[in-house]
Amino acid sequence: MTQHEFPAGQSRAQRASDDADVIVVGAGPGGSSAAYHLARAGLDVLLLEKSTFPREKVCGDGLTPRAVKQLVGMGIALEPADGWFPNKGIRIIGGGVRIELDWPELSSYPGFGLVRTRRGFDEIVARAAQRAGARLAEGVTVTGPVLDDATGRITGVTARETSAGDGEKGAERTYRARLVVAADGNSSRLSLAMSLRKRDDRPLGVAIRTYYTSSRRDDDYRETWLELWDGNALLPGYGWIFGVGDGTSNVGLGLLNTSASFGNTDYRAMLRNWLATMPAE
Ligand SMILES: Cc1cc2nc3c(=O)[nH]c(=O)nc-3n(C[C@H](O)[C@H](O)[C@H](O)COP(=O)(O)OP(=O)(O)OC[C@H]3O[C@@H](n4cnc5c(N)ncnc54)[C@H](O)[C@@H]3O)c2cc1C
Repeated sequence: MTQHEFPAGQSRAQRASDDADVIVVGAGPGGSSAAYHLARAGLDVLLLEKSTFPREKVCGDGLTPRAVKQLVGMGIALEPADGWFPNKGIRIIGGGVRIELDWPELSSYPGFGLVRTRRGFDEIVARAAQRAGARLAEGVTVTGPVLDDATGRITGVTARETSAGDGEKGAERTYRARLVVAADGNSSRLSLAMSLRKRDDRPLGVAIRTYYTSSRRDDDYRETWLELWDGNALLPGYGWIFGVGDGTSNVGLGLLNTSASFGNTDYRAMLRNWLATMPAE
């Protein structure tokens, strides 16, 4: 969406009932980068996030060169001293084969990937959006869409201050905008409230991860295991071990809904069983 989609000559003051040109719900990497680019395009952007930074998010913490390019484009400094751990490529283990594939040398993308924990990463992208002019409101939980009675189109959202943990909730408030971006994560309640449904033609993955201290913590390849063994039993799914560069490795596994075991797997037990067969390091 670009600024010229607003009626020509209409000033922000004339749209006084709007709280913003665009409301972005959710300041994960999706919402914050959308907010960044919309703000850079000159729009008044309100970015609503239910949690407060810094906050944890379950993830493998791996960023491909494509993601690195986006970060560079947002003016984010990627200094190793600030916790950005670069890698050369992917090590793939499976079928009796172990290969190291370097990220390709391309003029269009950087030749390296990164690992960075989401605890710091998401805040960095959110602050970049703020620097670009987006107004970030943390601790604000969006509770539903506001609809235009005549058209049914979304014209804003209702929201409350996120509970301080004692069950108390702030008063509900309405924010209005011409465009609302639902970037509220994979369960996207806002999308569901707008009757949008998950696309069944796209696979869905479920994954878990944990952190280990390991001598392999400074691995400069992101390691992916295409087969997970528990003794002689082949477990469903794939696993990863990514050095984080801070003394730990991010270790996890995931399963696609195309697997026969999807929906009836104890992921924690599977992670334990897989790791029990792995060398100590
Ligand atoms: C175990 C695991 C490993 C993964 N590994 C990798 C990896 O190595 N590399 C990779 O690129 N991707 C990985 N992913 C996927 C990655 O985590 C997601 O693609 C990414 O987080 C999606 O970003 P997002 O901004 O769309 O949503 P999210 O990161 O989920 O952000 C959504 C935001 O919306 C906020 N929010 C939700 N509801 C509301 C509400 N009602 N009101 C206000 N705010 C709200 C949330 O607090 C959150 O901040 C992994 C995922 C998992 C589960």
